[in-house]
Amino acid sequence: MNWYKRAQFNDEPPAWDFPEADHDYNPNWDYEVVIPDEKLIAISEKIMNEINTKYMPQIGMGKAKASYIKGKPGALAFYINGTALYPVFVIDLENIRTSSEECAMENDFDCEKEIYIGISTTLFHELGHAIQDWMNLYPDEDQAEEFGIHLHEYGEVWNFWE
Ligand SMILES: [Zn+2]
Repeated sequence: MNWYKRAQFNDEPPAWDFPEADHDYNPNWDYEVVIPDEKLIAISEKIMNEINTKYMPQIGMGKAKASYIKGKPGALAFYINGTALYPVFVIDLENIRTSSEECAMENDFDCEKEIYIGISTTLFHELGHAIQDWMNLYPDEDQAEEFGIHLHEYGEVWNFWE
């Protein structure tokens, strides 16, 4: 895939700029940061913007930021433990596209729509983990998944921590 190639030719990893954060975590320390397909970035930025303008104020957290990485095969995204209130997510948009396309083909769904759903539910799931960390709760997968799906389907924050 050519975006991997393009990233490899860059000597410097893409700059990380998160001045609002109360921590200095930089995804370049731990991950291979890449520049994904513009179309995928646009979807992700739209959802991150929704998180930051709509949901973070409701939840009472600061701003969240996503970094685009090349993860292991099948790995979709991670929340970086210890970064709440200003959560950092690392996300492999190409892996999400691959798994969403497979899902769309198996179920005869619209591919574009599945990719959007895949990125949205993944970022919302990671937001669930950030809240768990913020609230000193155990990182519960089912709870994060339910939180993410609820937010995606209804646009409502499920206050599982209250
Ligand atoms: Zn999870």
